[in-house]
Amino acid sequence: MGIVVQKYGGSSLSDADAIKRVARRITEAKKAGNDVVVAVSAMGDSTDELLDLADQVSPMPPARELDMLLTSGERISMALVAMAIADLGYTARSFTGSQAGVITDSMHGEAKIIDVTPGRITEAIGDGHIVIVAGFQGVSQDTKEITTLGRGGTDTTAVALAAALDADVCEIYTDVDGVFTADPRIVPSAKKLDTVTFEEMLELAANGAKVLHLRSVEYARRHFLPIHVRSSFSELKGTTVAGSIDDEARLEQERTMEAPIIAGVAHDRSEAKITVVGVPDKVGTAARIFEVLADAQINIDMIVQNVSAASTNKTDISFTLPGADGKKATSALEGIKAEIEYDSLTYDDKVGKVSLVGAGMRSHPGISAKVFKAVADAGVNIEMISTSEIRVSVVVSETEVDAAVAAVHTAFELDADQVEAVVYGGTGR
Ligand code: ADP
Ligand code: ASP
Ligand code: MG
Repeated sequence: MGIVVQKYGGSSLSDADAIKRVARRITEAKKAGNDVVVAVSAMGDSTDELLDLADQVSPMPPARELDMLLTSGERISMALVAMAIADLGYTARSFTGSQAGVITDSMHGEAKIIDVTPGRITEAIGDGHIVIVAGFQGVSQDTKEITTLGRGGTDTTAVALAAALDADVCEIYTDVDGVFTADPRIVPSAKKLDTVTFEEMLELAANGAKVLHLRSVEYARRHFLPIHVRSSFSELKGTTVAGSIDDEARLEQERTMEAPIIAGVAHDRSEAKITVVGVPDKVGTAARIFEVLADAQINIDMIVQNVSAASTNKTDISFTLPGADGKKATSALEGIKAEIEYDSLTYDDKVGKVSLVGAGMRSHPGISAKVFKAVADAGVNIEMISTSEIRVSVVVSETEVDAAVAAVHTAFELDADQVEAVVYGGTGR
C-alpha cells in the first residue's frame, strides 16, 4: 500500500459542491488501496477577502494577528472537506498546520518550513483515517506563534508533507491541466508541458507563474521529489516537475537537438520600479543605496545604472522590487537623501515583467535578440532587461504585458495547433 499526498487549491474548493467533488476524488485514492494525506487551501478567493477585511479594520495590521486571521481560511476548508468525506462513508481527520507538525521559522507572512514532525498524521493513517491538513501555515519553533508561508503556500505544505512521509510524488490539483508554456488565462494557445525540470520550473515560478509556489519547487528539488501538477476538474495526466537541466540524459538530448529549447513564458505584474534620479557619481554610493534597502528587508530584482553625464557627473539608478515593498523602499531612500545628495525619486508600479525560460538557451545563441525583436515588433517598449543562464526577462509597461507575452510565445513557436488550454475555475485573483 502506497501513500498518496494531494493538494487542492482554493480554485478547486470554491463552494459546497466543489468540496463534495474533491471529497469524492480523495476517497477514490483511498478506495484504490492507498493511505491518503491531503493539504487544502482556503475556499475560492477567501484569503483575499480576509485581507480586504483586515485592511478595512487597520491599514497596518500586526503581522501576528494577520497570520491568525489568514490561517482561519484553511481551517474552514479542512473541516468541510473532512465532513464531506465522512458523508461518503470514509473517516477523515483534519489537522491545523501546527497539529500536523509543520514547524517554521518565526517570519510572519513569509515563514519557511524548517521541519515536519508528522507524528499525528502517521497515527491517524495507522487508524485508517484519511488525513486533511490545513495548508499555508505552521507554528514557529522559537516563538510558538502561528505563521503563514506566503501567498500560494499550500503547495509548499503539500510538498513538505510528501517529503516527510516518503511519498513517491506530490500531486498538486488545480484549475488548469498542468504547467503550460504560458498562463492559459492570457495565452489560450499555450501548450501543456509533459515534463519540466526543477530549474526551469524554479525560474517560471520565481518570475510569476503562480501555478506553483516558488518554495514548493525549491523544497521538492532538495528532496528529489517529483511534483505532478494536474487538474481537479479533469482526469487528464498533467505535468511532471522532475529532473535537472544537468542530468546526463538531458544534456545528451540537448547535444542531439532533441531537447526542447524553451520551457515557457512567465509574466509578473506585481513588481514596481524605482529610479533614484541625479545620483552623484562617487565611490560607494550604489553600495549605500542598496545597503539601506537590504536593511529594510527588501528584495531587489533588476538594477540598471546609466553612465553619468559628463557635464553634471550625476547618474540615474533604477531597480525593480516587489510592489508590496514600494512604500518601505521609498521611505528608506528618503532617509538618505541628504547624505547621498541625489536629486529625486520616481516610483512606478505600472510595470510588468515578461520572462522567457528554457534550458536550451545555454546552447543556442541569439535567444535574447529574438526576444527583443518579438517585443519590438509588437510595438512594446522595453524599459529594463535582465538575464540568467536559462532566462531572459524584460520590464515593460503593465498595460503591454499581455501583448509582449503573446508576441514572445509566438516568436518561439510555442502556440498549439489546437487549443488545449482550459481554465476550469478560479478568478485568477
Ligand atoms: P490554486 O487555487 O489551485 O492554487 P492558482 O490560481 O494558485 O491555483 O494557480 C493556478 C493558476 O496559475 C492558473 O489558473 C493559471 O492562471 C496560473 N498560471 C500562471 N502561469 C501558468 C502556467 N505557465 N501554466 C499553468 N498555469 C499558470
Ligand atoms: N490560501 C492561501 C493563498 O491564497 C494559500 C494558498 O492558496 O496556497 O495564498
Ligand atoms: Mg496556488
